[in-house]
Amino acid sequence: MIKIGWLYPDLMSTYGDRGNIICLQKRLQWRGKQSEIIPIDVHTSENQLKSVDIIIGGGSQDIAQEIVMRDLRGTKGKIIKSLIEKGLPALFVCGAPQIMGNYYEPAWGKRIEGLGIFDMVTKNPGKDAERCIGNVTAEVLWDNVGAPDHEPTIITGFENHGGRTYLGNGAKPFAKIIKGNGNNSEDGTEGVVYKNAIGCYFHGPLLPRNPIVADYLLSLVVGKEFSNN
Ligand code: GLN
Repeated sequence: MIKIGWLYPDLMSTYGDRGNIICLQKRLQWRGKQSEIIPIDVHTSENQLKSVDIIIGGGSQDIAQEIVMRDLRGTKGKIIKSLIEKGLPALFVCGAPQIMGNYYEPAWGKRIEGLGIFDMVTKNPGKDAERCIGNVTAEVLWDNVGAPDHEPTIITGFENHGGRTYLGNGAKPFAKIIKGNGNNSEDGTEGVVYKNAIGCYFHGPLLPRNPIVADYLLSLVVGKEFSNN
């Protein structure tokens, strides 16, 4: 039984990001593998959290990010960090990588300290700044992902974020922007990779729109049968 940990399903699933979970479950089922969803939220025990095979987190409003971080700041956040450090596969979209980074500064209110898994910071340039909205296309940087032999892959998605993300030296971008804003509309980077954890701004949702990325993540969970399908 493959356990899919889903970060705060009630608070973090904007623009249909729940579709990433459905996609993983379906692709596993088509290959005869059972999966179960373990919601990671205020009710999750430490043992449940430690048992997951992959973590998926979606987008969210700023207020939800603040609420989520209040819960993650204790033991749960430490466990997630150590799981990622040990190589657990994970996908975080939009609001989720922002709080897995060093911090997120919203247009209103205080800076939200993140878990520091990704060496990156995200800042909203102010309430009058335009949001980064629209269809987006990028090329996956498989070298950074740790799969240099993977076939070249163009991904498509939809972005909608006010925060601009800047990567530090300890983080690599997930993809290179072809069209759209990506991390900050300045440096052509999109998303972030650390070990087997991927962060990105691609709603759409990402995995059903780009099943090659879904199968790559699943190949880390269950093995080679998912590669290049
Ligand atoms: N609140 C964040 C921002 O606007 C994330 C938005 C989202 O997850 N779609 O930058």
